Amino acid sequence: MKTIKQRDSEVIWHPYTPMKIMPEAIAIIKGEGAYLYDEAGNKYIDAVASWWVNLHGHSHPYIAKKVSEQLLKLEHCMFAGFTHEPAVLLAERLLEILPLGMKRVFYSDNGSTAVEVALKMALQYWSNKGIEKKKIIALENAYHGDTFGAMAVSGRGVFTDAFKDLLFDVDFIPFPSQKNKEKSIACLEELLKKGKSACFIVEPLVQGSAGMQMYDADVLDAYFKLCKKYDTIIIADEVMTGFGRTGKLFACNYIDTAPDIICLSKGITGGALPFGVTVTTQDIFNAFYDNDRTKMLYHGHSYTANPTICAAALASLDLLLTEECTDNRIRITNAHTGFKHAILNHKSVTEVRQTGTILAIELKTDTPVYHSNLRDVAYNFFLQKQIILRPLGNIIYVLPPYCISNEDLAYIYSCILEFLDNMP
Ligand SMILES: *Cc1c(COP(=O)(O)O)cnc(C)c1O
Repeated sequence: MKTIKQRDSEVIWHPYTPMKIMPEAIAIIKGEGAYLYDEAGNKYIDAVASWWVNLHGHSHPYIAKKVSEQLLKLEHCMFAGFTHEPAVLLAERLLEILPLGMKRVFYSDNGSTAVEVALKMALQYWSNKGIEKKKIIALENAYHGDTFGAMAVSGRGVFTDAFKDLLFDVDFIPFPSQKNKEKSIACLEELLKKGKSACFIVEPLVQGSAGMQMYDADVLDAYFKLCKKYDTIIIADEVMTGFGRTGKLFACNYIDTAPDIICLSKGITGGALPFGVTVTTQDIFNAFYDNDRTKMLYHGHSYTANPTICAAALASLDLLLTEECTDNRIRITNAHTGFKHAILNHKSVTEVRQTGTILAIELKTDTPVYHSNLRDVAYNFFLQKQIILRPLGNIIYVLPPYCISNEDLAYIYSCILEFLDNMP
C-alpha cells in the first residue's frame, strides 16, 4: 500500500515549495498540544505554531467541542440580509479587547483578504468623500499576503517578481532599524506632506515574513501620529502580531495612538480554521453609511462570517483570556529572554531579537542568503531533532503555541545551541 506521502507526490501542489527540489512532504496524522505526529511514528514539537496560527495547541478539545456543537446547530448561511449570534457575539467580544475607537467588524477568509478589505475600505473612504487621495504607503520588505492587492503593498522581491508589472504603485519607506529610525520617520512625513496618501499600512512592531525584523514602539507611535496629523488612514496589519504574540494582546497596545483599521487572522481561531477580520472606526464606517447605494463597500465572500469558524474564534478567545494563557505567555517570554542572553555573543550569531513570545536568531553567513543552503541545513537539522523550525533565510525563529512546556522550550534551546556550536 502507498503511504500518504507517496500519494501526495502524485496529486498535490504545495505552497511555497519548489516541487522538483523538495518532492517529499511529511504526512501528519495527528496533532495534540504542541506536538504533531507523522505516519512513520515520529513526534515533532511544532516550534513555529504551524505558520504562526496555533495558540493553544493542536486539536484542542474545547475548540473542537464548540465547533462541533455549532456545526450541528447552524453550519453556515449567507451574511448579506442575514446574521447569526456567533458573528455578533464575536464582534462584540473583539471590540471589547481591541484598541479604543474600533467600532465595526467586517469578516472575510484569511489574512490576505483581511488586508484587501482594509485597502478597499481606505481607498473607497476617500472616493466616497470626493477627496483625491489614492496613494498607499508601506514599509520596505513588508509582507501583507499573496493576493494582488496584498502583494502590491508587500516588499518587492522573488515572491512578486513574476507579477511586478501588474502591481499598483506603492510608496515604500525604509525599515526603521536602529540606524534608520529617523530617516524612516522623515521619509513618511515627506510622503504624507504631499496630501495624496489614502493610507499607510504597516505590520506593527514585527515584520514577520521579512525575517522577524523588529522595531521600537516609539517609531510606531511616531508613524501613527504623523498619519493623524496629515489625515491619512492607518492600517495596522496584526495578522501575525495579534492575539498575544508580542506579549500584549495586540501590538498596537504598546502605544497610545490607535490605528483606523486593524487586520486580524492567523491566531484568531487558535489555529483551528481559516478566518479574516477587518475592524475599523465609526468614522470610516460612516463614509459608507449613505442613502446612495454606490457608496456601500463592494466586497464580500461566500463564506463571510461562517458561524462554525466564528465559534472556533469565540472558543479560542475564551482560552486566550484565561489567567493560565496569560501566565504561559509571560513564561515563554521570560524563557526566550534567558536564552537570548545566553547566545547574544555566540560566534555564529549576528543578532538575537525578541518581542514577547517571538524569538529570532540571525545566523552569521558569508554567502548571500538566497544562494546559501544554510536554511535547508538548519531546517533538516531540527527536523532530525524532531523539532519543526522553518528558518526564514538565515534567520531561525521560535514562535511556539502558548501551551508549550518548559521542558520542550529547554530542549529547543539546547538543539539551537548545538546547531550554533557546530556551524562552520
Ligand atoms: C501571514 C500574513 C498575512 C497573510 O495571511 P494569509 O492568511 O496567509 O493570507 C498578511 N499579513 C501578515 C502580517 C502575515 O503575517
